[in-house]
Amino acid sequence: MTASARPAPSHESVLEASPDALLVVTEDGTFAMVNAAAERMFGYSREELVGQDHRVLLAEGFRNGLQRLFINLRRDAETAGIALFEAYGLRRDGSEFPGEVACSLLTADADTESAAGVSLAVTVRDTSHRQEADAGLREATSLLTATLESTADGILVVNAEGQIANFNSRFVTMWDIPKELMATQHAETVLRLVMAQLQDPEAFLEGIDAVYADPESESHDVLDFRDGRTFERYSRPQKVADKVVGRVWSFRDVTPARVAQDQIKKAMEDLAEQAAQLKAQAFQDPLTGLSNRQLFNDHLANALCGPYGTAIEILLLDLDDFKEVNDVLGHHAGDEMLIEVGRRLRNCVRPNDVVARLGGDEFVVLLVGSLDPDAVAERIVKSLNVPVWIDGTMLRPSLSLGLASINEDAVDASELLRRADVAMYAAKAAGKNRYMRFRPEMLKTLVERTDMVAGLRLAVDSGQIVVHYQPVVASRLGAVSTVEALARWERDGELVPPEQFIPAAERSGLIVDIGTEVLRRGCTELRPWLSEDPIRSLAVNVSGVQLQHGDFAELVLSIAASCGVDPRQLILEVTESVFFDDDCHVLQQLMTLRSAGVRVALDDFGTGYSSLGRLQELPVDTLKIDQSFVSMIQTGVERLPILTSMIGMAHGLGLTVTAEGVETSAQADYLMNLGCDSLQGFLFSPPVPEAALEPAVARSVNSIAVLREYRVSGEL
Ligand code: C2E
Ligand code: MG
Ligand code: MG
Repeated sequence: MTASARPAPSHESVLEASPDALLVVTEDGTFAMVNAAAERMFGYSREELVGQDHRVLLAEGFRNGLQRLFINLRRDAETAGIALFEAYGLRRDGSEFPGEVACSLLTADADTESAAGVSLAVTVRDTSHRQEADAGLREATSLLTATLESTADGILVVNAEGQIANFNSRFVTMWDIPKELMATQHAETVLRLVMAQLQDPEAFLEGIDAVYADPESESHDVLDFRDGRTFERYSRPQKVADKVVGRVWSFRDVTPARVAQDQIKKAMEDLAEQAAQLKAQAFQDPLTGLSNRQLFNDHLANALCGPYGTAIEILLLDLDDFKEVNDVLGHHAGDEMLIEVGRRLRNCVRPNDVVARLGGDEFVVLLVGSLDPDAVAERIVKSLNVPVWIDGTMLRPSLSLGLASINEDAVDASELLRRADVAMYAAKAAGKNRYMRFRPEMLKTLVERTDMVAGLRLAVDSGQIVVHYQPVVASRLGAVSTVEALARWERDGELVPPEQFIPAAERSGLIVDIGTEVLRRGCTELRPWLSEDPIRSLAVNVSGVQLQHGDFAELVLSIAASCGVDPRQLILEVTESVFFDDDCHVLQQLMTLRSAGVRVALDDFGTGYSSLGRLQELPVDTLKIDQSFVSMIQTGVERLPILTSMIGMAHGLGLTVTAEGVETSAQADYLMNLGCDSLQGFLFSPPVPEAALEPAVARSVNSIAVLREYRVSGEL
């Protein structure tokens, strides 16, 4: 038997097997027939249903539907065909369920129709499972919407056709897009609005093009807004069953994070800069901006590690009498001066040479591979000695410089520095304002210097301190009216110049005894000369240390008295520095002496830190212009306004002016032309012992006579 030979199922069995409930409702509204599915669906047995009113199976609110339908169907029997509607069924147990109801008129054969009339074939399909699915969908949708709305990100979904498929309200607010525009679903228009807000719309577009070129791709980038905001942009494809149906864009406002990040970055940069500054400061002298000791040591150590044979020189220098600037003019002026010195030092060397301030008024220069270090040292001394105006005062910085070079027996840093230091001391001892190159003999001098105080003490006690006298010529009078007493140390038959022992004597306080000795000797030896003419006077140098002693004035006057010298024939030469101590003692002493007739001369005027402005306040009678100014006169025809103003000012204050160190006729002539009252110098006579004073005075008078004669004839 073949399959095709199988007998067809009967109509009845087909009805019974149908999964939908099949019911036939007669014209009077009762069931004429139901199938098994109807029994299952409603929970009634067939017997119970047949003959039963059909409304028993319809839920409240749906009961009249079928009857109305029946009428309608019968009225339009020709056209109506099948009617579909949804209704709720009512089970035997009282529960309801949704269903799809399909009805069609059952037109029986004409004969049967007349007998049984028209009935309605009704199929009912339980759709409660479908509603469950719908509810699931609704729940999923609401979950999605809630999620979309609750996120802080702005989200936009664009479908494959480029239309806006979904977005959340955050997206709208973030991009400030009108709601109506979003409703148009037109992505292009939205895009334009978006681009107008961006700093770099081109890059934004490129980002979009790149992801659309590769629909599967995911992307992440950062968008900077014109108003300073920053968004992160993420994009990923939207897929349904592995098919890309659109693209999801999400935007996160990271402005606060970016601002914080920028602030951190800025703080880090500031910190780095500060660290660099601190590091630089650690190696920099804050006042002058020069290198400090540590950096200098590093540079020196590096230089010493360099190629063998490289010339390495250290120029160690210390300002002369710097303390006076601080004491008199205050720390501000002192600082200004140090800054100026630093500047000048830098200008004296090559850009790569190291110039450092070691502290206080001590500086050092490191020269590596210099061809002529002596020339550099000389240049430094010269350039430093140029006057500078600070706080209205003319200062003339001077320095003592020691130069030491690396060689076979000085190979390490400490030895080099020691040698430079020794040379610097030698330069100071030799009269300051100069440089000296280290020589091994200086080490001997160093030892001697320590012995010097002991030697000096002995010298004072054993009468080794002698006095030489130098005539001072009164230019208009053509006479020697003053001689200056200058101390000498007669040691082992040699005369030690005062510059070599006066500083040590001052430091040790021995200068008090030496000064007293010079005054006593001077008065004693010159008493005869002085007594010949009351216009004559003896000038004696006095150190500040002596003036510190409260009985100084008394001592001077008592020596003069004991030697029979009129105090009016005494001149005390002091340097301006004695006035630097705010000690009233000094002024008091000088005032006492002056009231007794003693005159006061300001020695070495113009060196160090002279102040023309202060001159007025000082108890002085004479100004002695330092020989460094006199030596500026070389040809005798140059213009030297500084000399003119010094002399003019002194005269204006009622002081007499003496020029020191006059060595040439041109200088004497020049000074006389300026009205300088007295001249002193080798042109007339060097300092000589008392025994040689008379001829020295005679020579001096002679010299001035020649000069005056020449001037008179020149004038004629
Ligand atoms: P000062 O008081 O300015 O003395 C002038 C110095 O210039 C003297 O040096 C003198 O010899 C030198 N001199 C004079 N004419 C000329 C010249 O034409 N050319 C040159 N180049 N030099 C000239 P000296 O005797 O070596 O004294 C140096 C300094 O020592 C003095 O300078 C003074 O400040 C100090 N001194 C000398 N004796 C004493 C003293 O008894 N007590 C104190 N406290 N200091 C003294
Ligand atoms: Mg003097
Ligand atoms: Mg002098």
